[in-house]
Amino acid sequence: MQIKDIQDDIDEELISHDALERRIVDVAGAVSRDYEGKNPLLIAVLKGAANVMVTFSQAMSIPLEIDYMSLSSYGSGTESSGKITVREDLTTDVAGRHVLIVEDIVDSGYTLNWLVGELNRRGAASVEIFAMLEKPARRKYHVDVKYRGFEIPDKFVVGYGLDYNEYYRNLNSIAVLKPSVYIEGEC
Ligand code: 5GP
Repeated sequence: MQIKDIQDDIDEELISHDALERRIVDVAGAVSRDYEGKNPLLIAVLKGAANVMVTFSQAMSIPLEIDYMSLSSYGSGTESSGKITVREDLTTDVAGRHVLIVEDIVDSGYTLNWLVGELNRRGAASVEIFAMLEKPARRKYHVDVKYRGFEIPDKFVVGYGLDYNEYYRNLNSIAVLKPSVYIEGEC
């Protein structure tokens, strides 16, 4: 039997594993200095931001807490729009906490715009964002991204936690898939 390799589905590698991790570690160093003495709460939205949370938090040297949230957004196909509901909530009370959202990618900004508002409503002392990737051309909603990894062009990317139909999250770089993957509709 032929073993399927996800690398065969890649059309173009946009960011290598080394470049990605070097940048995440650099930003984590800057964030550690900014949050010294603040006992920050790092929050990631599942599932896409799980990988970046692990690399980012392990590169931070100060005491901190980590929590996760699962959100669902009902809207049209590939656009995130419509009503966001909390599928799995945080286990931590954010009131009075300095919160840093660790995000995989900012596309339209809809999800983060909602999440920042929600954390402020819950009484966070401050809310800032680290986004591994940003697609500036797609921005529709206002979001202040204080810390960023890379800006990328308006292309659908996978890897390092980001999926297509739940696959390719385990790819260790950021890549664009071959058009045939979408046509065949399976991994
Ligand atoms: P936004 O609410 O900013 O439009 O979308 C944010 C979410 O959409 C991300 O957290 C991610 O789950 C998904 N998303 C946006 N762009 C891409 C992309 O290029 N690839 C993948 N796999 N997911 C994306």
